[in-house]
Amino acid sequence: MTELSASGQVGSRQAMVQAMQRLAALGLNRGSSGNVSVRRGETFLVTPSGVAAEDLLPQAMVEMDFNGAVLGDGKPSSEWRFHRDILAARPEVGAVVHTHSRYATTLACLQREVPAFHYMIAAAGGDSIRCAPYALFGTQELSGVALAALQDRRACLLGNHGMIAVGGDLDAALALAVEVESLCAQYWSALQLGQPQILSDAQMQDVLEKFKGYGAGNRQ
Ligand code: 13P
Ligand code: ZN
Repeated sequence: MTELSASGQVGSRQAMVQAMQRLAALGLNRGSSGNVSVRRGETFLVTPSGVAAEDLLPQAMVEMDFNGAVLGDGKPSSEWRFHRDILAARPEVGAVVHTHSRYATTLACLQREVPAFHYMIAAAGGDSIRCAPYALFGTQELSGVALAALQDRRACLLGNHGMIAVGGDLDAALALAVEVESLCAQYWSALQLGQPQILSDAQMQDVLEKFKGYGAGNRQ
């Protein structure tokens, strides 16, 4: 029995590679930009630092504990702090996805939050997708501002950097990252023609209420 199958984590590791490759294929990440993590009981798995999606191998996923210690080998993503802190602070979150996708990053460079210009903003958990202020990549400061921007949300923009999407599992986090990028593209497009009509608090409350009964479990 291999070490991987003994730990029962071939599935998660392989799914993380596939998620990174899908993000690259969709154009949401390129080169070694972005990273993903998956909760694993008392530990978590995070992608290695500086490895392009096409070169990722399942065994290169890095296991860490919530004190930030690497268990075994590998250099974890430079963003392991926000992955660790989100997973620690949000027990309902099983996976975290980070991208430098075009439209989310464009709005993040304007440090602009995305208002309720479209009802699907509710997919991120509320009536806006906040933008965290700029902080240097890989720092505890970035983790702090990201966690604050994610308060009562499943996604946020990172100022002058990119976005984070979280979910109950990796599929949900990945799907939300794709949706957030699409929403940012739509918002950007609408801004080219004028000022989008913003849905009211009451309208968004109705959407959020209706979302509770929608779909088959990929919304928390
Ligand atoms: P890593 O390759 O260290 O994961 O860094 C990519 C990134 O997006 C930093 O914010
Ligand atoms: Zn990044």
